[in-house]
Amino acid sequence: MNSSNGASINFTPDSQISYSDAIKYWSSVPPTVDGVLGGFGYTSLPVTDARGSVTFIRKAMRRNPEFERASRDGDPRACDIGAGIGRVTRDVLSQVCIKVDLVEPVEPFADQIEQELEKANALEKLGTIYKIGMQDFTPQQGHYWIIWCQWCLGQLKDLDLVAFLRRCSAGLKKGGLIFVKENNATTDEDEFDSTDSSVTRSDISFRSIFQMSGLKLLMAEEQMGLIAGLYPVRTYALQPIDYTES
Ligand code: SAH
Repeated sequence: MNSSNGASINFTPDSQISYSDAIKYWSSVPPTVDGVLGGFGYTSLPVTDARGSVTFIRKAMRRNPEFERASRDGDPRACDIGAGIGRVTRDVLSQVCIKVDLVEPVEPFADQIEQELEKANALEKLGTIYKIGMQDFTPQQGHYWIIWCQWCLGQLKDLDLVAFLRRCSAGLKKGGLIFVKENNATTDEDEFDSTDSSVTRSDISFRSIFQMSGLKLLMAEEQMGLIAGLYPVRTYALQPIDYTES
């Protein structure tokens, strides 16, 4: 970008993010599956996505005995970050956890969650709904078996994301994992999206952010079977490095 005096300034894509613009945008979207999925609610996408996520969690359990063990001792609890109306909780996390807390700053979405889970008979799994942005959220220490972040981390600036993932690490119980399921940019450059004031990060950017956050990447897999023409979607399973070294 060029400044008025002709000098060249390199703004990183994430520096253009405005948290209030994002909230304004999402508040204007209907509190439905179609709304949170940008108009793909009535396609095969939600079913393919949810099946892929459950399969990925089960695979992580098979490959990681400590994660599997942690589901058996005590209550396997999850936290659904940027939860929207609770779609991921309803279709994925309530299938594998005893209780799910949700973080969602947009009031109409947060207000819809109870109704959404009631329909799926998943209401008894509903824990606390935190109506705040993830940049202001600190999970209770040592609490969660799974912290699931889907289609929302692009809303955070890089440094806020690193700080957030570090707080999430502290929020995991022993053996617990953070899961990230996000669009990937198709080049190595992150892209700013002014519609919802977010960035779409490249796979390389995510990996470097995970490293800065003290996370070890255990598994990464592209979600297959989604609709042609959309960004590739990748799921990552992440473990705090502290755990592996202690
Ligand atoms: N994860 C859900 C919703 C995805 S839509 C699903 O897959 O169905 C993106 C969500 O991120 C919206 O619910 C939006 O309100 C939420 N969001 C936007 N900014 C956020 C922030 N700063 N912290 C947490 N969530 C945020």
